[in-house]
Amino acid sequence: NKQIILKDYVNGFPKESDMIFKTTTVKFKVPEGSNAILVKNLYLSCDPAMRFRMRKTEGSYVDSFVPGSPITGHGVAKVLDSGHPNFKKGDLVWGRSVGWEEYSLITDPETFFKIGCTNVPLSYYTGILGMPGMTAYAGFYEVCSPKEGEFIFISAASGAVGQLVGQFAKLMGCYVVGSAGTKQKIDLLKNKFGFDEAFNYKEEHDLDAALKRYFPKGIDIYFENVGGKMLDAVLLNMRLNGRIAVCGMISQYNLEQFEGIHNLVFLIIKRIRMEGFIVFDYYHLYPKFLDMVLPYIKEGKIDYVEDIVEGLESAPTALVGLFSGRNVGKQVVVVAHE
Ligand code: NDP
Repeated sequence: NKQIILKDYVNGFPKESDMIFKTTTVKFKVPEGSNAILVKNLYLSCDPAMRFRMRKTEGSYVDSFVPGSPITGHGVAKVLDSGHPNFKKGDLVWGRSVGWEEYSLITDPETFFKIGCTNVPLSYYTGILGMPGMTAYAGFYEVCSPKEGEFIFISAASGAVGQLVGQFAKLMGCYVVGSAGTKQKIDLLKNKFGFDEAFNYKEEHDLDAALKRYFPKGIDIYFENVGGKMLDAVLLNMRLNGRIAVCGMISQYNLEQFEGIHNLVFLIIKRIRMEGFIVFDYYHLYPKFLDMVLPYIKEGKIDYVEDIVEGLESAPTALVGLFSGRNVGKQVVVVAHE
């Protein structure tokens, strides 16, 4: 069983050398009488929140990784053996506790979803049809309270979550602007995902001026993925009764001390509702989400871009790349093609 092991807790930006590629001879087996499942891992998801788990955290919504053990995360897998009544050999599943290894013994299969629709690429269940898709859906429809014609801004807009939020907002008839970190990503936002406008935040020395350029009348909804200076600039540009859905703050994840925000007083002045959310609280909506998004994919109403790398040994580089914006679209690692 090949595995990716976390060496130790990480300070600052994660590096490839924080993880080790290892081959073990240990063979997993479903213990007699247990309800675990044995799976072959197919696709691994690289998610920014995995950075939280690389530090020793207390009071977070996810547990820290265990140094010396394989990294775990979201993934798509095939069931090889099952002690659980809901799963049988041959089932395809996705869930949040797949090991970064070829085979995993999963002791909490209740948290896994069985994959019903297989006439889409299976890797989609790490993204548009999995956790990031649900994040975009719950964040936009449940937290943002969107209305047709509203002005929406999305940061890290070309990523797994952002590209979907933007397209949901366009389908609702909103004016949508996104920010991202390269020209290629800006082209994708405007020409593939149908955003009205997009800008490269790395080329703007004054984010407030950039936002004023694209939102002369202000922003109704900010879908927050990055935090820091961008949030401060957005606060200066929100409209009355605006909403900020705090999905993530990737610019803060590698800092030992989080940056302060200066313009929070605008929450009062503009009567803004700013609300953080975690996707796991919305998984009861998953069937409803699939009913909406599968037809959108089949009818070509939603486009989806993934950044796929081959081989478990590529996983550390892929994960680290999220924090410098190397990924273009959803970052996926192929461990095996079924
Ligand atoms: P992405 O696919 O968007 O990948 C991360 C991207 O973030 C990078 O490609 C990069 O793009 C951008 N980025 C990296 N560092 C910075 C920085 N310092 N400042 C600004 N942008 C940066 O990731 P996801 O779509 O999977 O996740 C987006 C956000 O949503 C994250 O904050 C994540 O933690 C959060 N999230 C929250 C969930 C929840 O339940 N609340 C669930 C899932 C995700 P660029 O080139 O544009 O800089």
